Amino acid sequence: MTNCPFCNTRLKEDRRELLKGVFAKVEVCPKCEEEWVSGEEHDRMMNLFKRKAFLTGGSLAVRLPREIAQALKIKDGSELSFKVAKNKVIIEPS
Ligand SMILES: [Zn+2]
Repeated sequence: MTNCPFCNTRLKEDRRELLKGVFAKVEVCPKCEEEWVSGEEHDRMMNLFKRKAFLTGGSLAVRLPREIAQALKIKDGSELSFKVAKNKVIIEPS
């Protein structure tokens, strides 16, 4: 736990909901209400929302992070549908 770089008040741990059921840990200054994310938590978030595609059989696959799958109630064998838009693939539970 660190102190606020602006007012030197001890920061409090809190969490922010990024999307329903997916949280990021933040440190909040109770005095000036600034928020910080640790380098480690930043890396964890980057890893959560950025994945590499890989070949499996003749197809490309992407692993869905467990935290996001749980938030969307997607399990092994769940049926998913996807939409393809310009430079986007939108995957959702059917
Ligand atoms: Zn402060």
